[in-house]
Amino acid sequence: MNDKSDGKAEKSTNASVLRKRNMDQRDEKIKDNGKIEDPGDEIDAIEKTAKWVAQSFKMLPEWLQDNEYLHSGHRPPMPSFTDCFKSIFSIHSETGNIWTHLIGCVSFFFIALWFLTHSSDKVALQEKVVFSFFFAGAILCLGCSWLFHTLTCHSPFVLKFFRKLDYTGISLLIIGSFVPWLYYGFYCRSVPKYLYISMITIFGIAAIIVSMSDKFTQPNFRHIRALVFVIMGLSAVFPAFHLMYTDGLEKLVNENSFIPLVIMAFLYIFGAMLYGARIPEKYFPGKCDIWFQSHQLFHICVVVAALVHWYGVQKMAFLRLNDQC
Ligand SMILES: [Zn+2]
Repeated sequence: MNDKSDGKAEKSTNASVLRKRNMDQRDEKIKDNGKIEDPGDEIDAIEKTAKWVAQSFKMLPEWLQDNEYLHSGHRPPMPSFTDCFKSIFSIHSETGNIWTHLIGCVSFFFIALWFLTHSSDKVALQEKVVFSFFFAGAILCLGCSWLFHTLTCHSPFVLKFFRKLDYTGISLLIIGSFVPWLYYGFYCRSVPKYLYISMITIFGIAAIIVSMSDKFTQPNFRHIRALVFVIMGLSAVFPAFHLMYTDGLEKLVNENSFIPLVIMAFLYIFGAMLYGARIPEKYFPGKCDIWFQSHQLFHICVVVAALVHWYGVQKMAFLRLNDQC
């Protein structure tokens, strides 16, 4: 209770300090120019040209307070899309989150372009369609994510909207990752192939519906969010055990990219665990405000996991090229 009222008092103090600073700047301008036409316009002009100043966590409005272990370096509310996009090029608490997924998104866009533009005698249309699910999942997930982190400080409405898109993107990446793996894993077995693809699609749609609820996006639901996506990813154990039972472990490892799949699962779970528990900033509060915060590490895990998966499924596809069903 006291903390809250202290926070409010600090916020209003901050606002009055900024206003006073603007008034002082205006007075100095009057001194320099000798005259001023409209004091109100002058204040507006100064406020428009003034570069934003990084804020401490306590100074942020409640809707921007997400992780109390990141003490400083936050962007203030910036209700302008241009200002938000310009802030990509400055250093603040979201810089690492934006760039990790912006670079990942652009990388997957070019990998997709390279793969999908192969001539049809090198990569068949069927392969292109199957891999398109994965590329679409990766590009949409990473794309929604960097947009969310860029626009998070715009306004409560924009924050909420892009946060939901961000979570939707994660579900799409999980579905998109399952499709080629199931397709090549059960290449000649239509029933389990389409059964498992339907299973992950239903899980994905359910996760998207849950993501759309306002409660799910609240900061204190961090653990639940991490859990929903981990469970979705872990549902891969059903088709993996199925393949192990019918084909044996050796075939699963040699022909069905089991090792890349395990590495991918480890990276997603490890990343989600860091994200849910807010490690390392929980143990070093105020020391990871700009770099090495849990969310950035989680982002890096996601990009590396998607690359490992791409390597695994294209190896599987290559081995299936000569298979006749
Ligand atoms: Zn993120």
